[in-house]
Amino acid sequence: MARTRESPPEDTGNATRENFDHREEFDDRSPEDLKPGPARVVDVSGRCADCWGPIAGTRDASGRWNHIECLLCGRSVDEEKAVHEVEAMQREAHDNMAAARVGQPAMYRANAGFVLKLLPDMDRDVVVVEQRIKASLAEGRKGGRLTRHDFPPGTAGYLHAQARAFLAGVESLSREKAAIALTDLEYGEPQLVGIDGTAGDGTIHVAGRIPAVYKKPSNRELMARMGTALVAGMASAFACEVGMKAILVTRLDTAAKKHDLLALYEEMPGDSRGRLEGDFPEIAEVLGDSREVFGRWRYFEQGIGEDAIRALVDTDRLWGLGKAARVIADECVVAGMNYEIDIDTTFEIEGKPGDVRTSQRVHLTLESGESSIPWAELLRQET
Ligand SMILES: [Zn+2]
Repeated sequence: MARTRESPPEDTGNATRENFDHREEFDDRSPEDLKPGPARVVDVSGRCADCWGPIAGTRDASGRWNHIECLLCGRSVDEEKAVHEVEAMQREAHDNMAAARVGQPAMYRANAGFVLKLLPDMDRDVVVVEQRIKASLAEGRKGGRLTRHDFPPGTAGYLHAQARAFLAGVESLSREKAAIALTDLEYGEPQLVGIDGTAGDGTIHVAGRIPAVYKKPSNRELMARMGTALVAGMASAFACEVGMKAILVTRLDTAAKKHDLLALYEEMPGDSRGRLEGDFPEIAEVLGDSREVFGRWRYFEQGIGEDAIRALVDTDRLWGLGKAARVIADECVVAGMNYEIDIDTTFEIEGKPGDVRTSQRVHLTLESGESSIPWAELLRQET
């Protein structure tokens, strides 16, 4: 049976917003069972089905969820809809659990607004993975490829940290990234155009219109929006790239030294692609459409310039790349990568009375890790 441990609620001012993050632990395998098997611990985290951003919600006095919102795109549902959505999310997570524990993809409702992402803590086998890495080091360097010579054991997690940092940067940018935004339209009072009661079934059809005036943004504002879209597009594409390279190195000890997102995706292990497509069925298409965003499009080269700019300020593409990057960052966690960032400060006082000097040293540390998951053996167990 699963034991559930809730995360402490997030204090966000007036109403206490809670996220859906918690951990489920399973005791259906004995601690002595050392054969690779279903994960004993699964972290559960809420995601927006549209953008894969983190979500939070509130409950009413009786404990029923009355609001869920995406902290990234702002989409939300309230009252009865929130109650039904949470019930559906929990049922779905329950149904997905057995598959997730053995690395199989998740299946979500076609109309899901929000979902619970399952992040299994897969079994480890340090000996098997160390042997694999040793064998790949013995093969020597390979032209045009990243190998374990470039990323010794433990360091693939740095790439994951880098992907997360790019994403955090993108998420702190203005939401206003479209060259033409809805906020450029000023709406007037709705005007009644006609009333028609001739349908015969008792319904009355009321027609109206709402006049809207387009306020052209200044060139400066347009340039700022285009710049925000460019920064977000490139950073998201780069987050996809380093995230996939992190997974490739940790899983296969090698990755193409390329920026081409589709080529990297096609190198990924099948089970990994299966989970990514479970979370975002269009991911291969999105990466294919934007395969050269970081590689070639960072320069407004002649000929490719116009296409590149159009592609980069295309908000649909931007949305797709951002979602792909977040789905890939989750897969980095399933692949066993982690990182820790910390700031140490030391404060020193020296000297004699009358002549005291103080100094403060700030030391930023980023530590990275990867786990010895014997995927080949784990997946063999299931077939
Ligand atoms: Zn969202």
